[in-house]
Amino acid sequence: MIKTFIYRIILHSGLLRLWIYKNRKTINILMLHGVMDKTIDDSWYPFWNRISPDFLASRLEYLSRYYQFIGIDEATEMLSGDRPIRPNCMVLTFDDGYRNNLKYAMPVLRKFNAPATIYLATGYVGGQRPFQVDRLDYAIQSTDLVNHRFRINDTIFKYDTRSRATLTGSYRRHRALIQSSSENEQDYRNKLVSLALELEDESGQSIFDNFNNDDWVNILTWDDIRSYKYNDVEFEGHTVNHYRLALLDDNHVLDELRTSKNDIEEKLGRKCKHLCYPVGSYNQSVINIAESCGYKSAVTTNEGLNAVGCDLLRLYRIPFPSSGDIVSNVIFMSGLGFCISSFIRRLRGASGTWQLHK
Ligand SMILES: [Zn+2]
Repeated sequence: MIKTFIYRIILHSGLLRLWIYKNRKTINILMLHGVMDKTIDDSWYPFWNRISPDFLASRLEYLSRYYQFIGIDEATEMLSGDRPIRPNCMVLTFDDGYRNNLKYAMPVLRKFNAPATIYLATGYVGGQRPFQVDRLDYAIQSTDLVNHRFRINDTIFKYDTRSRATLTGSYRRHRALIQSSSENEQDYRNKLVSLALELEDESGQSIFDNFNNDDWVNILTWDDIRSYKYNDVEFEGHTVNHYRLALLDDNHVLDELRTSKNDIEEKLGRKCKHLCYPVGSYNQSVINIAESCGYKSAVTTNEGLNAVGCDLLRLYRIPFPSSGDIVSNVIFMSGLGFCISSFIRRLRGASGTWQLHK
């Protein structure tokens, strides 16, 4: 209530407009994943937040009063100083290449003349397989969780089934436990899949039963992309297997970055120049390899705005909100929300996370 009140004051006092004017020469890059309407198929929906087309439309309508939407390629040229920066630019990026991006998000974006950048994990596009976290999500939701106990090494884990929100939190903690008990990325993947298999056996239900028609988790195919008739999406790289790159050795990183770039260029006959680090995982060595592969930019999950001259292989983003009222969402996406909360955190003696990427 207090927060909503403060945000309304920020809006009506002109502070938001002032903030946007002050930062007119920086670029906001927003991060989205799936866009899907819960009412279309409510037989199940993932724990991971998806926003509805209506939610997206209302936020874009509001944002379009302040910002002009551009693609990542143009943004990169402006940030590098190769072309003059236009004021108040915003980029919409979608991670992972869900089919719902073209089917449900793009019709909304076109109403606002907004292009998009979709980052493809080419192993999933080509393999037509779900992300392991989505497969396990489905398996978990097909299981009777009230009496189920999961053993992870010496820990016994139980889902908090009181509400959707507590279940979502439990799923996050469950995966974190599996992750911390894993030796490496591949081991973590194997553990997710073997648990999913076990639960699928138990319930007799699997994400593969209806995978082709499941717009929540289905991945774009090369044919979907080639037959997309509009020119408003840049398809860029998100590695092959969506591993956290900072945890891999250099040769493996090189293979992931080079193969996915080649895949996109061969299959789509267009240049792949931009990268998104899966799960925001990168380090200096990953950056050097990305540069050697010819990527011009790479987005992270570090939160903030990007200024001309910033490190293009370490671009900051702002997550597109999935709940809350429009005013607070827009203040958040302008970067002002972060700035205020990190200021408050600093007043309390904690370290702030928001920064201007210079
Ligand atoms: Zn991803």
